Amino acid sequence: VAKAAGRACFRFYNEEMNARAVEQLKMEEELRYAMSSNQLELRYQPQIDTRTGAVVSMEALMRWKHPERGMISPLDFIPVAERTGQIIELGDWVLGEVDRHCRYWDSLGLPEFRVCVNISPIQFNQDDLPRRIKRFLDNAKLPASRLELELTESAIMTDAPANIKKLGQLKELGLDVAVDDFGTGYSSLSYLKRFPIDTLKIDQSFVADLDTTDGAGIVDAIIALSNTLNLRVIAEGIEEKPQLDYLVAKGCHLLQGYFFARPLYPEDVPDMLQQNFSQDLIPAEQH
Ligand code: C2E
Ligand code: MG
Ligand code: MG
Ligand code: MG
Repeated sequence: VAKAAGRACFRFYNEEMNARAVEQLKMEEELRYAMSSNQLELRYQPQIDTRTGAVVSMEALMRWKHPERGMISPLDFIPVAERTGQIIELGDWVLGEVDRHCRYWDSLGLPEFRVCVNISPIQFNQDDLPRRIKRFLDNAKLPASRLELELTESAIMTDAPANIKKLGQLKELGLDVAVDDFGTGYSSLSYLKRFPIDTLKIDQSFVADLDTTDGAGIVDAIIALSNTLNLRVIAEGIEEKPQLDYLVAKGCHLLQGYFFARPLYPEDVPDMLQQNFSQDLIPAEQH
């Protein structure tokens, strides 16, 4: 009986694996088509300076408008693109779009702001990433000083010594580096000090947990660490006023989340830049 059950289980497992492989192949093909047929788009989510309430930067976030399946989340297609290697091409596409949008915003005479671009661990692990980014910057209108690359903590922590060198090469280009999803990886504090980075981005899970002692404690620790290491610190995933009040009181430098705005169409960026959120930054009890 056990043997028969084992066999049935095995067959089921195989079928499931097969279905997944087929699904991935299909998505790989569709993604290739999506890139060539304008189904991919970027949205931009503002980041607010807590001292002034001004929008000082925007994070570029990818979207896939699938003709039949509707909007597909990057959480669903980026892992596939990473497995197939398509993320390299996608990454280049993102940078090209960012430059195109910056030219458009500049043509409207908008104030300059920083643009944050997510870089997958697969992209980061490519030996030629610094060369690729340099080639991009050489041809782009966007100056390096307006570009920040977001790398996840786990990406830069695997083989930290080699990554310190690579980060150095990127930094030499004049751009900024942020550590995304900070607190979810396993940073060695001694390495962190040696990493040529500019920004720590507190993972949104800790912001969501701010109403718990642990959550608040971790956020406090990351903000204190940022101050010690002289880094900029940003919190993402802010949805509620109490989260905002807490982060402002603790001196978090930058804020990002649905409370302020969802990721926006490039056309809606100009209006957003006109906004000032200083009223929202006043603690609730003083209203
Ligand atoms: P991430 O870089 O950590 O981006 C933050 C995610 O949180 C975004 O999800 C954003 O839309 C979402 N978010 C922002 N504010 C709030 C909030 O107040 N509440 C909640 N619940 N969520 C909020 P999104 O756009 O779905 O992207 C998910 C992830 O996909 C990103 O996480 C990033 O890892 C990846 N991704 C997105 N665009 C790109 C890209 O161009 N390249 C690469 N390599 N990865 C990307
Ligand atoms: Mg990010
Ligand atoms: Mg993040
Ligand atoms: Mg993330």
